[in-house]
Amino acid sequence: MPRYEYRCKTCGVTFELKRPMARSADPASCPHGHGDAVKLLSTVAVGGAAQAPQGQPAGGGGGGCCGGGCCG
Ligand SMILES: [Zn+2]
Repeated sequence: MPRYEYRCKTCGVTFELKRPMARSADPASCPHGHGDAVKLLSTVAVGGAAQAPQGQPAGGGGGGCCGGGCCG
């Protein structure tokens, strides 16, 4: 059974519920008893391609030798 993540609009807590997919849009109550929770983006059933971070700076000043004058 898929899990869905919800966030309570009253107290701001996030929590997960296991429920059938057909009921994923049903109203949810937070663990503190508030009945005004919204469904967040599901962490399951995401089939898109993951985006890898690109454009990282290469050689960002990690070298200990050539920066300290010992090799030049
Ligand atoms: Zn709450």
